[in-house]
Amino acid sequence: MSDHEDQIKRIKSQTQGQDQFHQAVDDVMEHVLPFVGDKQEYMDEKIVERLLTPDRVIEFRVTWRDDNKEIQTNRGFRVQYNNAIGPYKGGLRFHPSVTLDTFKFLAFEQTFKNALTGLPMGGGKGGSDFDPKGKSEAEVMRFCQAFMMELHKYIGPDHDIPAGDIGVGNREIGYLFGAYKQITGVHHGVLTGKNPAFGGSCIRKEATGYGCVYFLKDILEAHDDKLEGKRCAISGAGNVALYTAEKLIEEGASVITLSDSKGYICAKDGISEEQLAVIRTLKEEKRGRLSDLNEKGITYHDGKKPWQEEYDVAIPAATQNEVEIEDAKNIQDAGASVVCEAANMPLTAEATDFLREKDMTIAPAKAANAGGVVVSGLERTQNAQRLSWGCRKVDETLQRTMKDIHDICAEYGKSGDQIDYIKGANIGGFVSVADAMKAYGVI
Ligand code: NDP
Repeated sequence: MSDHEDQIKRIKSQTQGQDQFHQAVDDVMEHVLPFVGDKQEYMDEKIVERLLTPDRVIEFRVTWRDDNKEIQTNRGFRVQYNNAIGPYKGGLRFHPSVTLDTFKFLAFEQTFKNALTGLPMGGGKGGSDFDPKGKSEAEVMRFCQAFMMELHKYIGPDHDIPAGDIGVGNREIGYLFGAYKQITGVHHGVLTGKNPAFGGSCIRKEATGYGCVYFLKDILEAHDDKLEGKRCAISGAGNVALYTAEKLIEEGASVITLSDSKGYICAKDGISEEQLAVIRTLKEEKRGRLSDLNEKGITYHDGKKPWQEEYDVAIPAATQNEVEIEDAKNIQDAGASVVCEAANMPLTAEATDFLREKDMTIAPAKAANAGGVVVSGLERTQNAQRLSWGCRKVDETLQRTMKDIHDICAEYGKSGDQIDYIKGANIGGFVSVADAMKAYGVI
């Protein structure tokens, strides 16, 4: 067993039960270990070993009162994984399922994703097991205020800049930023994903979904193919899924499915722009369920995932490990040739292995969903400049950056006339972080 394999084994035994973190480490190290094997400079600096432990893990209590005046207590987390390239940057997730394991895996992934963007951003992630679903507006606001009462001690525009993620959208970012401003008396770019009315960037809300479609287009073009006319199955009906769908329709592709945690909808001839607007109002404004939808040509399938339909591209955009081995087999049977990971780590290790063996092109989340953090980086730049850029400038920069990320994946992932995007993203992200760490010496 090599030194590195020993170190990974030791870290895993020290962090037992953190299965998602281990899965993310294995995914990256599968490609990074052979790459560093003959590079003495990375070996001497013990870069791999240092990358297996986050810079810092912050865990705190969040106490707040519900509408019945009952005291509620939740857990809050911030994992500041690595700031070699720039201040920690990564979203906040509010979902009852989260544990420290969730945030460690997300922050580890975020470190390499942010490196791929070429923007000066380190990796972090955080959030709480608070569930915004079924809570009143006042309860969500009080929770956000209580959460920020603690989190504000650990963040800052040159130190750690959180954003949104599952369960943290425009509304929550508004409450969180308002609380930060109230506590500190300072109005600066400490959070991204803000409303453009108070320092947010144009296209931030759309950026992850749009970026995903730009990346998919780049992949298809690299394979002498095109997006127009492609049938796409999407899971999820949140921020990422809805804006992926919007851009796909704009580009002349068909969106066949969307889903939420209770079931999926299918439109065999594609969801129309008008229908998508109805779905957006249902999910974003009314916070309803897809089962409430009543649209011609759209059927609802309770308790099922969308992968058994027929399509060319699968776009999982809900959550981690949502595509299990049976789903992967359905994706293959559906006739798909590309899986574009819009969610973070949406495929189980088994599903990934199965699809790779079948020569499926997989666009890994680190690259495919980097559009959100790209525009977050641009929001930070605009805040520092005290300026707001026009939408066209932001969108063009997003498109260009997604193309750059594609090209980095192609450079490091090329094998023969094929591109292994997973390998390319893992090595491309690693090289940037490792080179910065090397330059700092032993710290
Ligand atoms: P949202 O909260 O807006 O939407 C999440 C969607 O996924 C909802 O449709 C939700 O269904 C569904 N979902 C959540 N958890 C589960 C689950 N356990 N099983 C099945 N379905 C589930 O989140 P986002 O769209 O922001 O995030 C989606 C993914 O994209 C996540 O992996 C996130 O980390 C990743 N991502 C997000 C970015 C962003 O900018 N927002 C940036 C980069 C990555 P329901 O409504 O029923 O809960």
